[in-house]
Formats: sequence, C-alpha cells, structure tokens
Amino acid sequence: NLAPLRRALISVSDKTGLIDLAQALSERGVELLSTGGSAQAIRDAGIEVRDVADATGFPEMMDGRVKTLHPVVHGGLLARRDLEAHRDAMVEHNIGPIDLLVVNLYPFEETVAKGADFDTCIENIDIGGPAMIRSAAKNHTFVTVVTDIEDYSAVLAELDANDGQTTLALRQRLAQTAYARTAAYDTAVSTWMAGAIGADMPRRRSFSGTFKQTMRYGENSHQSAAFYTDGTDRPGVATALQHQGKDLSYNNINDTDAAFELVAEFDAADGPAVAIIKHANPCGVARGATLVEAYRNAFDCDRTSAFGGIVALNQPLDEDTANAIVEIFTEVVIAPGASDAAKAVFAAKKNLRLLTTDALPDPKTPITTYRQVAGGMLVQDKDTGYVGMDDLKVVTKTAPTDAQMADLLFAWKVAKHVKSNAIVYVKDKATVGVGAGQMSRLDSALIAAKKAERMADAMDLPQPLTIGSAVASDAFFPFADGLMEAAAAGATCVIQPGGSMRDDEVIAAADEAGIAMVFTGMRHFKH
Ligand code: 5GP
Repeated sequence: NLAPLRRALISVSDKTGLIDLAQALSERGVELLSTGGSAQAIRDAGIEVRDVADATGFPEMMDGRVKTLHPVVHGGLLARRDLEAHRDAMVEHNIGPIDLLVVNLYPFEETVAKGADFDTCIENIDIGGPAMIRSAAKNHTFVTVVTDIEDYSAVLAELDANDGQTTLALRQRLAQTAYARTAAYDTAVSTWMAGAIGADMPRRRSFSGTFKQTMRYGENSHQSAAFYTDGTDRPGVATALQHQGKDLSYNNINDTDAAFELVAEFDAADGPAVAIIKHANPCGVARGATLVEAYRNAFDCDRTSAFGGIVALNQPLDEDTANAIVEIFTEVVIAPGASDAAKAVFAAKKNLRLLTTDALPDPKTPITTYRQVAGGMLVQDKDTGYVGMDDLKVVTKTAPTDAQMADLLFAWKVAKHVKSNAIVYVKDKATVGVGAGQMSRLDSALIAAKKAERMADAMDLPQPLTIGSAVASDAFFPFADGLMEAAAAGATCVIQPGGSMRDDEVIAAADEAGIAMVFTGMRHFKH
C-alpha cells in the first residue's frame, strides 16, 4: 500500500475544472506544484501553490519551450519508491517525489484545425508535457497520471474511498490512457507535418483515433467492437447528432456512412435526392421534385431490399418524407437536419434512429482511407474522382440525348458507390436495377435486370423499368457479353470507362444493338 498522495504537479493548457481540482486536492492536504499560467490561475483563486521554477531553481525560459524539463521534475516522477538507491538519489539531489501529475497538452490539433501558419503550429508542439506524461505513466506503480479532464472526478473519488491514494487499477488505466494521448499527439504532429512539407506517402506513418463508443458487438455477435473518431469535422456518422433510438451497431455505422457519402454526390442545389442502403450497397437512389417523391422513387427500385435499410437524404428531413419512411421498418435515417414536425413523426418509432448533421459532406474533399490487411495497412486517397459532361467521349454511331446523358451521369455517380462489379440501371434519375459485388460483370448485369423484372411483377408494371434505361458499369466491359445483357434488359445507352483490349468488340456490339455509349476514361472500382 502506498503512502497517501502528498504532492501533485499541475500543468494544463485547458484550464477547465482546474480550480475545482486544485481546491479539492488542497483540501486533502496535497501540496501543489504548477507551471506559469496554471499556477497563476490557481493562485488567483486563493489556493496555495508553488511554482515549478521555484522547485527547479530554473526560470521558465525560451517562450515556455523549457519549463519542466529538469531532473527535479523527472526525478520526482520517475523515482521508484521501493528502491533504496532511488530514494537516496532523491535525498542527495534534493528531489521531492511527485505522486500525481495532471497535464493536458498545448492544443496542437485545434491549432492545426484553425488553419494556423507553420510557425504557429510548431510553437504549439508541447514538449515538456508529453515528457512528464511518459515519465509518470512509466512509473504508474507509484504515480497517478491524469491527461483527461474527464478523469479528475475518478481520482478524487478514489482519494476519498482509499485513504488518500488511488488504486493500482486506476493508475494502470490512467497510464494506458496517457500513452494513447501522447501517441495520438505525435501522430497529429507527424500527420500535419507530412501535409505541411508535402510528403505525400511518408515512409513512416502512425494512426490514432479517439474513443467514441463501444458497440454491443462487431459485424457478428462473437466480435467485440468500438467506434473511434479521427478528430476531423467532416459531416457524417461520426459527428452527427442522434435524436432517438438505441445506439448504432457496427453495421449501422458502416452502412450509414455509405448512405450519406453516396447521397452527398447529389448536390442539394439541384433538388432533393435519397439513397437507401443495405449492407453498404445502394438498393435505391433517386431524385424527385420533392424529397418524398425522391424517397418513393428510390424505394421503388427494390422494395424488398429496402426493408430494414438505411436512408440518407441530401436535404433536411420533412414531415411528408418522414411519414413515407415510417411506412416500413427502417434502421437509420441520416440527413442534414430535420424539421420539428418530422421529428415528431419519428418519435413514435422507438427503434428508428434519426441522425442529423449541419451539412452534407463535400464529396470532393481529399481524405485518406485505410484498410487493414494481414500484417499491414493499405492507405489511399478516397475516390473523389468526378466525371462531368466535358470528360465524356461518345464512341458509338449514336450519341445519347440530353435526357439520356443526365441519366448516364446519374448512374455513374451511383456506380462509384456500389461494390464492384457494379452495374447500375437508371431511368428518369432513379435507379431501376443495381447489380453489386459479383465476381463477373455479366452476373451483375443479369442480377440487376432480374431485380427490375421482379419489381415490375410486384408493382404490376407492364414491363421492367430497365426498358429504355441508361446503364453504368464501374469498370470496362472485358467482353461484349455484359453489354449485350444490358441491351437485352432494355438499356438504350451506356456509360463505362473504356480501355479494354476488346473495346472495339464492345463498341461494335453497342452499334449493332443501336445503343449510344460514352467512355469516361476513369473507373470506380470499390472493393
Ligand atoms: P501553463 O499555462 O501552466 O503556463 O502551461 C501549461 C502547459 O505547458 C501544459 O500544456 C504543459 O503540457 C506545457 N508544458 C509543461 N512543461 C513544458 C515544457 O517544459 N516545455 C513545453 N514546451 N511545454 C511544457
């Protein structure tokens, strides 16, 4: 059992909760040591505190770059209380033990986020703070280290419950948190620096995240899981406000992300759009004159699959759309806002989760994506590729009409968000058949057409909506068979990257079928 906690060193940039903590420690007979600004704040509150400079015999210098980097500080944090030699060294060099360290670091991440210039960012790299945190965390057998304001109360509670000391279990937990904090801090510095000096894919790279929540389980019930955020403020599932319903599951988060990123491709200025997602793939995407019309058009693409889906809107949820959505079971709805009337409609549906953000994400913002493989991590730029009218090359005898062109570009945007091999049929700015994730492009074309036939039956339509549709293929047709299948399903125009060895055959087949085809010169694989 450790002797009661006697001395604390407090050095915090974020002074939230500082005075209450200092007061509570002081009342419990803990001597306070502190650095410039923190000491000033504590003293101003009428609490007794000793300057670190007084203990070290060195003034804080070089604009605060050197404040606590001194053997009196680090000896006090690192000395093993159970070794005579360490205790002797403390006596010999006049080093007092430091039992509690409370540090939060210079706000480097916030400084970068504010868009500060290079020199300001450099000045906001904390040196002494991480050094102290690492010393105290290493010596957590004897020393308590607090790096998160949220943990102040846990420490005080233990002091009261535990004869003026913390338990080893708490010290271990705090030490683990402390190393995660210094690691994340240096990750932030290194990531910022890579960008600032233009090092695109640095030879060494670290990753970090901030805990947001645990999930009941991962993709399956025997996998544990948690959600970590990366600190960026992109509108999306990580930053959205949840209005109702139980916590999101692992799959919900993944699918909600897919849904919102997809619907964000459809500029709200051009009118409402809705995407419905199942297992990370869209089962319906549509525009409409109104949001509710867009929802119904998206729903009609594949009513069967839409059950239990995730719905993303490119405009704030309104009452009409809310009423339409609650007609079937939906897991999650995400939108850039929601009206009070819409929220009231959802309030009766306890299992429906509503998430709102302040805005749509910008699909063109450069982002780095990561995927784990055995023994490593694959890093790439997010697919922000964009194809506009000017990028298209008509390769067939017939050119698409304006209406066909609009549907082709619509289909192309959707195909970018469908797992490869992706085949997407679109009519009047609504998907009418989506073939996803097949190992052959021909199968994706067949499956999408089959679904359209089934929907025609279910809706008592005279013919499948693929008749007279536009079709997109996320990558080139390696053979003419996939294209011929699309033609058989009734597609009258095609958008695809081109670039196959057999492009000539594919173009000839399109001409033969009287189909208009355009090449994008860019593919959108998604695995
Ligand atoms: P204060 O507001 O108390 O003057 O400064 C508190 C901040 O200084 C804390 O964020 C702490 O991590 C940081 N800090 C403490 N010692 C040093 C040091 O020796 N060098 C640098 N660069 N920062 C330090």
